[in-house]
Amino acid sequence: MLKVTNLNAGYGHVQILRDVSFSVDDGEIIAILGSNGAGKTTTVRAVTGMIRPKSGSVMLNGQELCGKSSRAILDAGIIQVPEGRQLFTEMTVYENLELGAFSDEAKKRLNDSLAFCYKYFPKLEERTKQAAGTLSGGEQQMVAVARALIGLPKVLILDEPSLGLAPNIVDEILTVAGDMAAHQGVSIILVEQDVNKALNTANRGYVIENGHVVLSGSARELQDNEHVKRAYLGI
Ligand code: ATP
Repeated sequence: MLKVTNLNAGYGHVQILRDVSFSVDDGEIIAILGSNGAGKTTTVRAVTGMIRPKSGSVMLNGQELCGKSSRAILDAGIIQVPEGRQLFTEMTVYENLELGAFSDEAKKRLNDSLAFCYKYFPKLEERTKQAAGTLSGGEQQMVAVARALIGLPKVLILDEPSLGLAPNIVDEILTVAGDMAAHQGVSIILVEQDVNKALNTANRGYVIENGHVVLSGSARELQDNEHVKRAYLGI
């Protein structure tokens, strides 16, 4: 279980996150929702060690990760599919996937993990030798998700998977995430601006506004919440 408590973080002297707290159980999917600039990506950066939080706690299965390096946090099992994918475009699909196996355990299980990923994304198997930069946007997102899975995450963070992608590809990616949670006990953090899609996928959600968690609850409670309806669902 990942438990984030009173996380305070920002850039230089500018504080963005104020006492952000949330948790995600093994096998659970949570959504972190909010509009542009609310602090969603900053939350992800603070949890993954890409920025150093000013204070707070990031506990994964009882291990304190707040203030640790991004490599140590990755090694602990928090793996992110970054917004914008960040593939090595000149390298082949296979080479990009192989890079996901950074730990000894992941290297040992690489072939099984590849077979698992190809089952979900058969297109990738057809394109292993192709330069990643020549794939379509949707295929590149599949590579980014597969690369993260190959790292054997305990917590998988999907940052804006729907950005610029066709709905059927987003659905495929969310199906994989759902299966990882249900069958492998992976905790999923889904950061999304498409609130409808996120709440149809997640068990629970947190709404961030101006760096604060202003609302949290089950997906159903949030879907029925008047503020969420008005501000995010346009109902
Ligand atoms: P989006 O959905 O648009 O990605 P977000 O909720 O992820 O939005 P953040 O990217 O976390 O929002 O941004 C929160 C605030 O932090 C914004 O005011 C943004 O301008 C600021 N910010 C983000 N990155 C930096 C940075 N590298 N340096 C300074 N300020 C930043």
